[in-house]
Amino acid sequence: MKITLLNFTPNPEKTIVLAAKLCYSDSSISQLEDKVKDVSVEKFLNKILQMGHLSVLEHSTFTFGIEGISRATSHQLVRHRLASYSQQSQRYVKFKEPEFVIPPTIKNNDGITKKFSDTVESLYDFYQEMLNAGIPAEDARYIFPNAATTKIIVTMNARELLHFFGLRTCERAQWEIREMAKKMLSLVKKEAPLIFKKAGPGCVSTNKCTEGEMTCGRPDEIREEFRKL
Ligand SMILES: Cc1cc2nc3c(=O)[nH]c(=O)nc-3n(C[C@H](O)[C@H](O)[C@H](O)COP(=O)(O)OP(=O)(O)OC[C@H]3O[C@@H](n4cnc5c(N)ncnc54)[C@H](O)[C@@H]3O)c2cc1C
Repeated sequence: MKITLLNFTPNPEKTIVLAAKLCYSDSSISQLEDKVKDVSVEKFLNKILQMGHLSVLEHSTFTFGIEGISRATSHQLVRHRLASYSQQSQRYVKFKEPEFVIPPTIKNNDGITKKFSDTVESLYDFYQEMLNAGIPAEDARYIFPNAATTKIIVTMNARELLHFFGLRTCERAQWEIREMAKKMLSLVKKEAPLIFKKAGPGCVSTNKCTEGEMTCGRPDEIREEFRKL
């Protein structure tokens, strides 16, 4: 999979501080812009996050290019409703070569992996046969498996991203969306380290696992991993 941070709100952390300051100030917005220059962004952002005044985080957005994930994972991704998506169409695009994701459990099973690849490739052969027989791509695609790769552009604001990372970087999430979410987190952490300092599963963001009996039981290891991310 390939994940790229295509774009984001300029000065994402300052933008959020400005929005929060506005709520509690009698100054004009231009006066506030001047005042914000001298404010400790770290101190103020920490205060906002601690207070739970999270709506101001919605003013900073991040746009990702995501390629080479399976349709199984893109379906999980688009369940997150507070985001914008543009996905490569299987109706309008005709696929020439088989491109699909092989889960590690299948890749590492010598008896299964070849059969998996052969089966998926035979589906793509049949897809091509249907196109050649005049079946429209939008109908021939019904033969594609969940493993088929896709491309999608996603825009989320910082509030939704924190929520998304909470769910999808957790060990309870499936390996592929977890891998994708961690890559997204490492990209935004570089651009907005204060917002995403504690982003991650419950054991990282609140120091407390929220998964009950479904816990992975490895909070210290996970915290260490996210500290280095
Ligand atoms: C480990 C795991 C297992 C899962 N298993 C399944 C499964 O078996 N079957 C299945 O169908 N799904 C499953 N899901 C998907 C899950 O149910 C959610 O659809 C998905 O995670 C999107 O999360 P969300 O609804 O919190 O967030 P988003 O859509 O990202 O929304 C963010 C938040 O906004 C608020 N919000 C958004 N829309 C509304 C609304 N209409 N009304 C009120 N509040 C709203 C909520 O507070 C919500 O948490 C699973 C998810 C995970 C992480």
